[in-house]
Amino acid sequence: PRDGLERELERLDGAPYGRYRGLTGAWRLGTGRTLRLVRAQADPFAPPGRVALWIDGREAGFDPELWATPVRRRALAGYLVRCAAREARGERAYHLDAGGQEVLDRSSCTVGADGSVTLRLGVALPGPRRRIDGREAWRLLGPGLTRLADRALRAGALEAARVREFVETVEDAAALRAALPGLGLVGFVADGALLPRRSGADDRPARGAGVVPFRSPEELRVTVTLPNAGEVTGMGVPEGVTLIVGGGFHGKSTLLRALEAGVWDHVPGDGRERVAARADTVKLRAEDGRRVERVDLHAFVDHLPGGADTTDFSTDNASGSTSQAASLCEAVEAGARVLLIDEDTAATNLMIRDARMQALVAKEREPLTPLVDSVRSLHRDHGVSTVLVMGGSGDYLDVADRVIMMDAYRPTDATARAREVAAVPTGRRAEAESFPGVVHRRPDPASLDATAKGRTRIRSRGTDYLVFGEHEVDLRAVEQLTDGPQVTGVGLAVELLVRRGHLDGRRTLAQALDLLETDLAGPEGVAGLLSVHDEDFAVPRRYEVAAAVNRLRALRVLR
Ligand code: ADP
Ligand code: MG
Repeated sequence: PRDGLERELERLDGAPYGRYRGLTGAWRLGTGRTLRLVRAQADPFAPPGRVALWIDGREAGFDPELWATPVRRRALAGYLVRCAAREARGERAYHLDAGGQEVLDRSSCTVGADGSVTLRLGVALPGPRRRIDGREAWRLLGPGLTRLADRALRAGALEAARVREFVETVEDAAALRAALPGLGLVGFVADGALLPRRSGADDRPARGAGVVPFRSPEELRVTVTLPNAGEVTGMGVPEGVTLIVGGGFHGKSTLLRALEAGVWDHVPGDGRERVAARADTVKLRAEDGRRVERVDLHAFVDHLPGGADTTDFSTDNASGSTSQAASLCEAVEAGARVLLIDEDTAATNLMIRDARMQALVAKEREPLTPLVDSVRSLHRDHGVSTVLVMGGSGDYLDVADRVIMMDAYRPTDATARAREVAAVPTGRRAEAESFPGVVHRRPDPASLDATAKGRTRIRSRGTDYLVFGEHEVDLRAVEQLTDGPQVTGVGLAVELLVRRGHLDGRRTLAQALDLLETDLAGPEGVAGLLSVHDEDFAVPRRYEVAAAVNRLRALRVLR
């Protein structure tokens, strides 16, 4: 690193704005600290310049236990970036991505295997009348960032007990998730967990006397041992087909959404710290209007009126049922082994077809085979479990291994009662013997082009859209995405799939995702995505990457 950033900025004071560019590179900022101007903005109105602040392990001074494993490093970074964001709140020139309730590997802060800390942020470089304001720039980059480091990124400045609590909470959640397969569970909700959120737009826990803490029914109660919290009891959601039933407004969707979010670790105080779902859990929903590229849907859709081949089905405008069928097949193709479906957002005609409708509309005239007829085989023959919210139809009682009834936000085990009810035949006939499995596809890497006007263009519009080259990918139905930076991470990961040659036209999507997943594991994942572009992002899962690939309207699958 060079010395003398202050002098250099003094010298450039009043110079044309573009000369900030000449400052890119590393600068020494006191003992054990380096400031790197990664990218200077082109003009005062462009997105902010990009800065990385690095503090060596000795300066940061955290107890080595706090950064002993990749999970702990992710958690420590998650805590530090939140402290830094709080500290930087009053400074409008700083743009720092602290994340929300989830603790993800993020580019905004990483902790190295040597205990060093890197903070990456946007800094709007001051430029009144398109001239460099050297003094103000130095205040922001020099004293400003030094203060941030002093107050937020050093052990001495932080409350040790809070740091430890954060790290241990995240570590426990990750351990809980990892333990689920060995326990024969797909999910776990601890007693005392607080599931409802403040609102649809506010992911923080609901407050007030009306919030009912979770309490597990005895029949489903499981005790798990976590590395820090020790023994914890709660409801285990077993593998197989699980139905969540109950009256409207009794908390069914809230429980499912908590499981959906259980693939991520949550901050202390979130209420879902000890709610976990297996890492290969994917939420599905209907999404009419989406594109589908060469998916074998025949297990769910056959004999279409137009005679289209549903073993190799494409459309630019899927219906509710075909979109959900495609999303299901794609999720299993990408490796999902737990599927979550809520009646509120599912296509009814893909879910059920009752005895009366079977009597009225002959099977030959109905292209759809409802999920109720393949959901058992999905588990038995393919190891794919399903958790389904279904308050409006009893047909699933025949196929459910477990029935959880929500009653005023309290779960009870209704399996035995459901068996009694299901013993009375409805006259419904099964329409399929088994689920045939998915066909693995080989995407054409040339169709995943991130360039626009000769440059790589990858950015997010909240959690709704990914801008990828010339395309805008609609991700509104990909419900497990956490935030805008994670959507950016998805885009960068798709680009990495191509750049590293994982998708080479010969490998299947699943094989390419296997390679990508190795690249993205742990803090090196951040480095890999940074190599595509230095930007605020969170490291995504393979399932969201696959979801974006599948929704890219330019995607072509090779024959
Ligand atoms: P359902 O899917 O059964 O119709 P929801 O899960 O949508 O019900 O919940 C209905 C309402 O109850 C929502 O506003 C939700 O926030 C609230 N709610 C859910 N669980 C709880 C709880 N444990 N305590 C208090 N309110 C809750
Ligand atoms: Mg609901």
